[in-house]
Amino acid sequence: MSLCVALYARVSTEEQAQHGTSLEGQIQRCQALAEQLGATEMRSFVDAGISGADITRPGLQSLLAAAKANEIQAVVCLDPDRLARNLSHQLILTDQLESIGVELHFVQFERRPTPDGRLLYAIRGAIAEFEAHKIRERTRQGKQQRLREGKAVTGTQILGYAYDRKRKGFVVDVAEAAIVRAVFAMAPQMSTQAIADALNSAGLHAKGGGEFSQSAVYGILRNPTYLGRMSMLKGQGSISMPPLVAREAFDLAARALAARRRRPAGHGRVYVLSGVARCAICGRAVTGSGGSRPYYACAGKRAKPPCSSPYYPAAETEAAIWALVVSELESAARHETPEVEAWAERARARDRRRLESRRRRLVQAGGAGRLSAEDLTLALSQVDGRLKALDLEPQRGGGKQDAEAALAYLKRADARGRRDILRYLGLSVWFGPDAAEIRACGAGDANTRASDH
Ligand SMILES: [Zn+2]
Repeated sequence: MSLCVALYARVSTEEQAQHGTSLEGQIQRCQALAEQLGATEMRSFVDAGISGADITRPGLQSLLAAAKANEIQAVVCLDPDRLARNLSHQLILTDQLESIGVELHFVQFERRPTPDGRLLYAIRGAIAEFEAHKIRERTRQGKQQRLREGKAVTGTQILGYAYDRKRKGFVVDVAEAAIVRAVFAMAPQMSTQAIADALNSAGLHAKGGGEFSQSAVYGILRNPTYLGRMSMLKGQGSISMPPLVAREAFDLAARALAARRRRPAGHGRVYVLSGVARCAICGRAVTGSGGSRPYYACAGKRAKPPCSSPYYPAAETEAAIWALVVSELESAARHETPEVEAWAERARARDRRRLESRRRRLVQAGGAGRLSAEDLTLALSQVDGRLKALDLEPQRGGGKQDAEAALAYLKRADARGRRDILRYLGLSVWFGPDAAEIRACGAGDANTRASDH
């Protein structure tokens, strides 16, 4: 029997320089597992210099296309991180592959088809996302440091300005500034989408060279930098900029945006339990609806004779069900602590390698005179501080702490995230006459508990 296995590898821009996470290294380790699985053919799909948060990665997209075309029967990847650094994406990708019968295997993580195994996989995804948050937080702290030193935060790209390296500050880019002014001039009469369309059909480009999106136009109209002061790091500091628009034009645009935003209340609400909710009385689907007072109701309410089930207030019911799900995840995390610990240790080792290689590069740059002694000392003290923090982590119960942080993250998941998690976990929510309960799909095994709604 032929078994074509897809090998998937990814490195982000910051990882590209390092050997531990090289594409070749990942592919080699995936090959070894694919051989064990009895692969008769292997195909590699890679994404280089692309973040795991980006789901439109070309390598990943061609892998999915091959899977849909039935050209591959299994996917092997180093660990779930490589696949996606975002819990929802990870769960959606897994679901997509499994629904077309493509098996997914990880070299560094064993997925088990039990309810606990699925829960652990979800927790593991939440931890990866939490890790990504931590990295962003560290970057933010580095920027804060620069701000305290009175330097502009480099890497900030803003339409209408160019960064002048010599002067270490922003100057007006005349062509781009004209676009910014045109956007403000159009705002009172046109929607953000119409403005984006107008700019694109005029052949103008956004800052990165791409097309203008509706949200990019919205971002321009709401950006107070154009009044002459750029706020940084959520208002923790600011630097003076050459103004591009007058206060009157800015306020006029804000009022136009507010007027267009007034939509009927409840519009666009995400019903967390949609797709997984069923009526315990008649077995029909329970769906969410309602304007300013959203509720869930059995589809049988419209039948003749109507189902006797009550209407359930949406917010309260969703909160009660989510509390149950979190408590299930908590108990799964307790059972699987050794595995979470092992994963956390690997993540720490990876962080340590990154920091050590950054330290080496800094020392080299200092030695070659590319970095002043002052900058070198500062950068080294930051790196050393992080290394020290990594060493202290296990003593503070690192892995357990990560699992707790991941659970805290799950607790904060927004409506869309909660809906995705519920669907992925294969839980269904049964609405009875006076309580709702969650059950695992299929057999009536595990995860059965009742709650007041
Ligand atoms: Zn019913």
